[in-house]
Amino acid sequence: MKAIVKTTPAPGAEFLEKALPQIAPDQVLIKVRATSICGTDVHIYKWDPWAQGRIGEKRLPQILGHEVAGDVVEVGAHVKRIKLGDYISAETHIYHPGDLTALLGQFHIGERMKILGVDCDGAFAEYFAVPESVCWINDPALPPEVATVQEPLGNATYTVLGEDADVAGKSVVILGDGPAALLAVGVARVCGLTSIGLVGKYDFNLDIAKKMGADYVLYANDPDVDRVAFVKEQTGGYGTDIVCEMAGSQQALDEGFKMLRRGGRFSAFGIASQSPLLIDYNNGIVFKGAQIYGINGRKMFDTWYRVRNFLASGRLDISPVITHMLTLDQYVTGFDLMITRPRASAKIVLFPDPAELEAAKQRRKL
Ligand code: ZN
Repeated sequence: MKAIVKTTPAPGAEFLEKALPQIAPDQVLIKVRATSICGTDVHIYKWDPWAQGRIGEKRLPQILGHEVAGDVVEVGAHVKRIKLGDYISAETHIYHPGDLTALLGQFHIGERMKILGVDCDGAFAEYFAVPESVCWINDPALPPEVATVQEPLGNATYTVLGEDADVAGKSVVILGDGPAALLAVGVARVCGLTSIGLVGKYDFNLDIAKKMGADYVLYANDPDVDRVAFVKEQTGGYGTDIVCEMAGSQQALDEGFKMLRRGGRFSAFGIASQSPLLIDYNNGIVFKGAQIYGINGRKMFDTWYRVRNFLASGRLDISPVITHMLTLDQYVTGFDLMITRPRASAKIVLFPDPAELEAAKQRRKL
């Protein structure tokens, strides 16, 4: 089979012929129909300090990728729930059933959890193997180019809803303009938030935010705009009920805690390129009575269930966020689009089978 493989501890990846994965008794083999590029893949592709520390030279070669939709073509001897022919996506967080967190129902943050395409071979290939425990059976109405984006849409959903899903009629400011942040705008719309702002850097992405239903967008790098004052004006002088931090920057932390109203909720999703970062602990958190949620992945499988229903019902249309569709072997173009600044792409979907790409283009009338 063909696969995108990180072979050497240096930037880039190779398109190689690899043996079909051998499945373990608890695994299934998936024929990939669509797979999409995530910021995590870009870290690995660039081989930045995070990738060097997390993966390291010793584990190479390794296949990249984790956002995926495909068909089950083989099931292991111990597999019970998943059947041949099932159309699935994979939860990226492969949990260990013996972890305390798994026993407590917090599967997504286990100590021994492995991430698909980060801690083991991933889905940028014609086939990949995955435990049935993390397979999510897709609604057949979802085209593969949409089904593959359920994983980051799950991030967006968890970031917007937090732990209590108490959002209807509330206000939110989303900091960041990457694909997950743009998807969060759509989730906020469909969940009944009534004032949705997004702070971003790039015109291309701010336009998508508007298409997804943002009530207003602000430039993160405009020195003439007082973003905190603007948000207060939008929210009766109180500040926003919810901040979704999806940029991972010092500026987003500084402004986000100031924009948050007293008793508001701060969802921390963005990953900082350097940590620790500074927070105004007294005024931003303690005296404000702020609730802070760390968002690592998706709730399993509560988030998947909601995401599937958002999409299958037609209530949420994520097509503005899917900006590019390519064949798997055009991955260099895809990664270049992801890396280029100013940004002119959001979610990029790759198809191993050119016929599947053609069908997707027909659906999207491209
Ligand atoms: Zn991802």
